[in-house]
Parts: sequence; C-alpha cells; structure tokens
Amino acid sequence: MSSVRRVILLGSTGSIGVSTLEVIRHLNRDEQAFEIVGLAVARSADTLLEQAREFQVEHVSVCDESAAEGITDRTVFSGADAARRLVAEVARPGDLLVAAIVGAAGLEAVVEAIRIGCDIALANKETLVSGGELVMPLVKEHGVQLLPVDSEHSAIAQCLRSSRSIEEVRRLVITASGGPFRTWEPDRIRAARVDEALAHPTWTMGRKITIDSASLMNKGLEVIEAHWLFDLPADQIDVIVHPQSIVHSFVEYVDGSVIAQCGPPDMKTPIQYALTSPDRVEGCGPRLDWQQLTKLDFQQLDHDVFPSVRMALEVIRAGGTAGAIYNAANEVAVEAFLDERIDFGDIFELVATGLREIESRPVSCLEDVLEDDARTRRCIREVLRSRSSTSVSTMKG
Ligand code: MG
Repeated sequence: MSSVRRVILLGSTGSIGVSTLEVIRHLNRDEQAFEIVGLAVARSADTLLEQAREFQVEHVSVCDESAAEGITDRTVFSGADAARRLVAEVARPGDLLVAAIVGAAGLEAVVEAIRIGCDIALANKETLVSGGELVMPLVKEHGVQLLPVDSEHSAIAQCLRSSRSIEEVRRLVITASGGPFRTWEPDRIRAARVDEALAHPTWTMGRKITIDSASLMNKGLEVIEAHWLFDLPADQIDVIVHPQSIVHSFVEYVDGSVIAQCGPPDMKTPIQYALTSPDRVEGCGPRLDWQQLTKLDFQQLDHDVFPSVRMALEVIRAGGTAGAIYNAANEVAVEAFLDERIDFGDIFELVATGLREIESRPVSCLEDVLEDDARTRRCIREVLRSRSSTSVSTMKG
C-alpha cells in the first residue's frame, strides 16, 4: 500500500471498534498506511475524545446529545442521525467506512457512504439483514466494495478466492460455536439467567451480540447476511456447530472439494483482512497454537431447541422486509431479557410472533425498512406489555 487510505470508523468504542484501532495502530507502525478522518459512537464521549486525540481526528459524532456537549475542541455531530451526518460531511469517494455501530443508525450511515462512493468494511449486521434488498443494488450501482468483517463472512470471502464464480459453489457452511448452552437440556435453556447467557465460551463481545450467540439468533442474522453478501439462496446455506471456533466457515464446491478458513477466535484477523484485502500483511492477532490443537469437533445444530436459524432461512425465502422484522423483534426481545422481564426461551417466541404478525413487503426505499422495523418494535412491546399485565408466571423473579 503506497498511498494513505482514509478511514471513517463508526462504533469506535465498541468491541470491533477498539480492535479496529488496534489493527490500524499496528498497520501504521512503520509508516502511515491509514488516516482516520471520522469517529462515531453512541454515547462514550470520554473514550471517543482520547481516541480522537491519539489519531488526530477532527470530526466526531456522538448520538447522545448531552454526552456530545463535553466535546469542545473539535467538530462534533450529535443526535439520532449523527453518524450519517458525520459521513455526509467527511466522506470522499474511495474512502473506507468501517461500520461497527449497531442498529438502524448504522444502516443509514452505510447507505450515505455507499452513495458517496466509499468502500464498506461491514461489521454492522442490520445493514444487510434489514436492508440487504436496498443495499446490494446500491453497492452494484456505485461500484463500491463490501468487505465483511464478521469472522464467518470473512472466512467465506477468503474461501471464495479459490474459485472463479459463485456457480462453482455447492453450499456455504457457516460454523457456530453453539454458545454457552450447547450442552444444556432444553428446559434449563428456557429458564437461563442473564449472567449465564453472557458467559460465552470462546468469543468476548458486547452484551447484545453475546445474548444473540447464546440464542443462536446471531447465527440466524449471519445466515441472512451471507445470503445477501454472496448471493446464494436459503437452500445453499447451512450451519454446523463447532465448539472450538477455529474453523470460521467452509465453502463446499460442486466438484466435492471443501475449503475452510481457520485461525484463533480473534476479531483482529478478519478486521485486518478487511482493511488490507486482497493483500495479506503481517498480523497483530494471536496465532494458532499447533501444539495445543489436538482435535476439532463438529455437531449438528438442534433446530428444535434453537429455532433461530430455521426462522432465518424462512426470512430469506420471504424476502422484502422480513429481515428487518426478524432483527427488530430480536432486538426488543434481547432488551427485555437483559432487563429480566422475560425468560431466555421467550426470545424465540417473540421473534416468531414478529414474523407472524407483521407482513413482509418488498423494499423500494430506506423508509420501507425503517417503517417495518418500527412497526415490529411496537408490536413486540405491546405483546410484552399485555403479557406483564396478565401473567406474572413468565417474569423472572
Ligand atoms: Mg460472527
């Protein structure tokens, strides 16, 4: 890389954001390869300021307006669409946007960046799960690159480099760690506590995604994301449980060959690959310890205990706003679970309710996605309200 690549990092204080800065620090160690021109966070203004000073970033954004008031020595955007306005202000064609903020705010900012002509390193799942039908045509129209950051999709993208076209692919097999409840009995999973769900065996991540990993809803989101990224139908996408999280995914080809991408479970490797691909350079993450590696286990996913992936495949078949409905229902359910208002097992039921109650429709603009997202949230909150007023048996004590 001879010229300096300009980067806008959305979600710089989250788990992916912090790792991205670590990777950029590493890649800049000899000479500057990346220049950060914008940083966005939801509310952690103090940490944001430290980062902005270290990387000499003039433009920042904080969704929380009162938190933003503390920043006086640089240009700051605040409010619900702060990240999108930051992008509109600083992004130039050819920049790289690292999208690692959760929720609809991430989707709007990504759409803005694509329209400007930025490449996208995508860690925000909603962008494709909710907005895939809108985002993928935009990516084509503007000729930008969509580079997956999620370890499974990064793995698939790397495996796909051994083929000429997607027609050669028989199927994608996405690995799942199985989460902390992999070996639990169904009744015990239904009633699992918040601290139990937050104890992920192999990955250290934010609270929302850790719950999603325990429920395998994260795998469902990844299945939908893979459908959009690699343009394959539901019946060519499979999930297999692999507790060690060493194989990050497989691609099976029509000739019977299967290509896997492996590595230690550390996000710095896929983040760096998104920043430098198609090149590979010296990494800063841990390496696979071949002395410790004695076996790799694989199991079938029990779709009756964890219906998340089965629902995701239905979402792909339904198309339109079904992904937005699946995602929004899950977000509300996870919030309720983290607040100890529902049982763990209720998450699946609430997502199924969202998909049943809200009818999916084709996506013609961003508003279609945002409307059905909001409609689903209202529906699930209403279900939660009526449940809490009619029954105390579903509440955790
Ligand atoms: Mg993942």
